Amino acid sequence: WQVMEHTVLSAAPDQLIRKWTASGTYSTQSCYLATFHGSTTCYSWKLIWKSWAPPRVKFFHWLANQDRCWTAKRLAHGLQHHPRCLLCDQEPETLRHFLLECPFARQAWHEVLAWLRIPAPIPNHEPSLMDWWKHARENTPPRLLELMG
Ligand SMILES: [Zn+2]
Repeated sequence: WQVMEHTVLSAAPDQLIRKWTASGTYSTQSCYLATFHGSTTCYSWKLIWKSWAPPRVKFFHWLANQDRCWTAKRLAHGLQHHPRCLLCDQEPETLRHFLLECPFARQAWHEVLAWLRIPAPIPNHEPSLMDWWKHARENTPPRLLELMG
């Protein structure tokens, strides 16, 4: 044991001080908020989970937003996979290619947006599907927004 010479001890009894509140006292709210300490926020969660889409579509979109879909790129880590996109057979199957760049995906986007009469352009050079979605929502008349979620 090493005794520190500059330690100042108080004669007052020990006191439990919570660091999650300004007052240092316990509250259920501070406990609840502490559970989120260190967590990251996903700006897109509301767009995905509060949309009218069926649960399986929401779940796919949530996985796609985190690049967690089982594309050939992910399967390449030791699992059997086709080297190129199964639709166009031209490019490696990445999520970006599958959702945004593949000519078949682009045609599907065109058809869906025309069917819904949404005037947004199809995804083009956006970094992600979510970036396109946010951009498209900003340029869509409010009466059509409920169709986009
Ligand atoms: Zn393709």
